Amino acid sequence: MPAGAQPSASAKTIGIQIGSISFLDEGTEKVLDILQEKACVNTLFLATFTYGNGIASRMIPGHSFPDHGVQAYDTKFHGGNYATPHLQYYKNTIIKDVKAPDHGNIDILEEVIPKAKKRGVKVYTWSEDVWRTDVPNVEKIQEHDLYGRNARTVCFNNPDHHNFLLGLMEDFIRSYDIDGIMWGSERYGAFGNMVESVHNRNGNDPSRVTCFCQFCQAKARKRGINVDRAFEGFKTLESWVRSCRGGTRPTDGYYVTLWRVLFRYPEILAWETMWNDSVHETYDAIYKLVKSIKPQMQVGWHVWHAHSFSPFFRAQTDIQELSKYSDYLKMTVYHNLGGTRMETYMTSQRNTVYGDMPIEEALQFEYRIMNYRERGYEELPYTGLSPDYVYRETKRCVEDAKDTRTQIWPGIDVDISNMDVRFSQCTPPVVKEVTKAAYRGGAQGLVISRKYSEMKLANLTAVGDALREMKVV
Ligand SMILES: [Zn+2]
Repeated sequence: MPAGAQPSASAKTIGIQIGSISFLDEGTEKVLDILQEKACVNTLFLATFTYGNGIASRMIPGHSFPDHGVQAYDTKFHGGNYATPHLQYYKNTIIKDVKAPDHGNIDILEEVIPKAKKRGVKVYTWSEDVWRTDVPNVEKIQEHDLYGRNARTVCFNNPDHHNFLLGLMEDFIRSYDIDGIMWGSERYGAFGNMVESVHNRNGNDPSRVTCFCQFCQAKARKRGINVDRAFEGFKTLESWVRSCRGGTRPTDGYYVTLWRVLFRYPEILAWETMWNDSVHETYDAIYKLVKSIKPQMQVGWHVWHAHSFSPFFRAQTDIQELSKYSDYLKMTVYHNLGGTRMETYMTSQRNTVYGDMPIEEALQFEYRIMNYRERGYEELPYTGLSPDYVYRETKRCVEDAKDTRTQIWPGIDVDISNMDVRFSQCTPPVVKEVTKAAYRGGAQGLVISRKYSEMKLANLTAVGDALREMKVV
């Protein structure tokens, strides 16, 4: 699509995630020209609220710069709200002071929206559940771990956090002429964090899992969960994890003794269900609020990569359920990063859940239950996952959303950098194949991820080439 052309009303969403710094570094009009010409982008997912440098900021330190943008790391990155917080929307929360100081008084929505609209390019705010520890009052909304210590993460059952999120979304939709919102949280509950990880090969510290704060305890009691038994259960599971990781094979085996703990303490799974329900209730509350104000506004969620690795998390991510409060789901299907993440996921459990088997056999078990055909354990980080993975995951999610109004927009990996620099890199032919695989799987749109500031132009062009060849655009 040439720059300046208007997409038709029925056009599929071709979205891209982008941070404010790219517009400031390269110029708004120039960036829009590139996105439209090379990748047929018709929707921006503009990182508007986050304290993470994953979706905002330039290339993350230690990785080489792409062939555009300022060739320097963003060492002053801070994060926050890159638009302007309007105080009337934050009356019901102690979290008020969140303006991102990174770019002075610049309001990135005011800067980008008029220029994008003139071209018929839609703007969605993209907000992420990543916080700093020095945000004023954040300690009052942080989660509490199994031993009552504050965590870096914030609690979905804390009213000040809940009200902050609703205020933030209301602020975006009332103060700006946006087309939609996306929000995402890349986290597990206490059970998931104790037994597995997609980010940490050694697994997490099982005493630091969350959340056990007063609000979660009160909610558990209301649900009929025995709180004392839940604490006892998680501490028993903690001992199991420590003992397994210490190299002691349980007499009855790893898998059997895991289930013994879960049968003895069903409160563990009840607590995990409550944690995931709390995330979904947050989706629901945001959805209802936004629709009550602007029914035409598109509301959806970034569903993090764990749905592709963890059978437990996939079970908790019931798309039929989510469809009640989702216009669209950006299902993460990052093929290249997926290789090292799959390897990390398996490694994190090699002495716990999968301790009974050689790792290659465990991986084959994993592929069977998750329905993949992918590479071996040693190769994975150096090959990534294949276009066939993207096809299978897209197809599964589309089938899961059948007979609902929820659209599936896979999140496509274009040069996502948060992995060891020695591991596999995205290449134009594979990116092109992956894009086609998503549409073959029934994708109703896509979100080029994870941010423009780390993408090479040749790989971005490969997405556009696939779309042009398939006549999606
Ligand atoms: Zn809590």
